[in-house]
Amino acid sequence: MKFVDEFRDPDKARALIREIETLLPHIPRADERPLQIMEFCGGHTHTIFRYGLEQMLPGAIELVHGPGCPVCVLPMGRVDDCVALAERPEVIFFALGFETTMPSTALTVLAAEREGIDNFSLFCNHITTVPTIKAILDSPDMQIDAFLAPGHVSMVVGEAPFRFVAEDYGKPIVITGFEPLDILQSLWMVIRQLAEGRCEVENQYRRIVPPEGNSAGLEAVAKVFELREFFEWRGLGSIDHSGVRMREEYAHFDAERKFPVPSLKIADPRSCQCGEVLKGVIRPWECKVYGRQCTPQTPMGALMVSSEGTCAAYYQYGRLAVEAQRGQAG
Ligand code: SF4
Repeated sequence: MKFVDEFRDPDKARALIREIETLLPHIPRADERPLQIMEFCGGHTHTIFRYGLEQMLPGAIELVHGPGCPVCVLPMGRVDDCVALAERPEVIFFALGFETTMPSTALTVLAAEREGIDNFSLFCNHITTVPTIKAILDSPDMQIDAFLAPGHVSMVVGEAPFRFVAEDYGKPIVITGFEPLDILQSLWMVIRQLAEGRCEVENQYRRIVPPEGNSAGLEAVAKVFELREFFEWRGLGSIDHSGVRMREEYAHFDAERKFPVPSLKIADPRSCQCGEVLKGVIRPWECKVYGRQCTPQTPMGALMVSSEGTCAAYYQYGRLAVEAQRGQAG
C-alpha cells in the first residue's frame, strides 16, 4: 500500500475483524473474562477512538489504553519547574517525549557543543518506555494478555528491547503502526500468537521500523544521556530507570544543574483514578469524576490532559457510545 487512505479501507477493516473472530475460539482460556490487550502508545489510543475501532471489535477483546502520552504523565511539579526556568535570561529547551524524540534533542546538544554556544540549555524530561512496560507487568493487579508496542519508539530502539515481554513474561507483543488497518492487523497478529500458543516480538510496522532500530540516533542518545535512578510519572508514581538526564560531560547545558528549580511534588486530587485506568483495572468512565468534574476543559487527572490521553480520547470520541451503554444498563 502506498497512500494513507489505503490504510483506512473499511472493507479491509471488516475482513480483519472477521479473521480475528475466527481465531478467538482457538485461544485456550482459563476464565471467561475478556482478553485484555494494551496499546502502550497515546498515538494508538487516539487512532482507536478516532476511527471507532473499539466498537468494531468482538466483546471478547478489551483494549487497555496505556500510559504512552508524555504530556499526560508529566508531573505537575515539573511544569512549575519549567515556568520558573522560563524567567532565566537564556534559551532553555523543554525536552519532552519518549525514545522517539530523544535523538533530536541529543543531536541539538551535540551541535550546540560543536558550535560553542553558551546561552543554551536543556530542561530534560525525556522518559523511557521499556522500564514502564516492565512496571506494568510487575503490577499485582495486572491482567493484560498481550501488548501493541509503540511504533515510533521502535523506529529508534528497534525490536530487541521488547523481547523481555515475550521471553520473561510470556506475553505476545507486536510493534504497531498508527493507521486503523495497522492497529487491526496488529490485533490480529497478537491474537494469532495467542491462538497458536506463541509469545514473540513481531513487527507489523516494518515499512518504518527496522528490526535493529536507528543506530545513529541511538549513538547520539548514548553520548548525551544516561538513565536516571528513577523518574516520577503522573498517575503511576515513581518508576525505576524510567527517565534520562544529561551526562556529566554535558552538565553545562543542563538547566537543572545550572539553575535552582522549585522541584515541588504536587499530588493529583484523591478522587483521581488514573493509575487504575492505566493498568486496565477500571475503564475511564468508571472513574468517579470522569465527565463530571474531570473533562478536557477541567482536567483533574493526567489522562484528561492531552488529546492522546485515554480519558480525553474517550471524552472526545467515545463519550456518546459510553453514555448510550450506560443508558441501556440503567
Ligand atoms: S477521569 Fe480524570 S481523574 Fe479519572 S482517571 Fe480519567 S483523567 Fe484520571
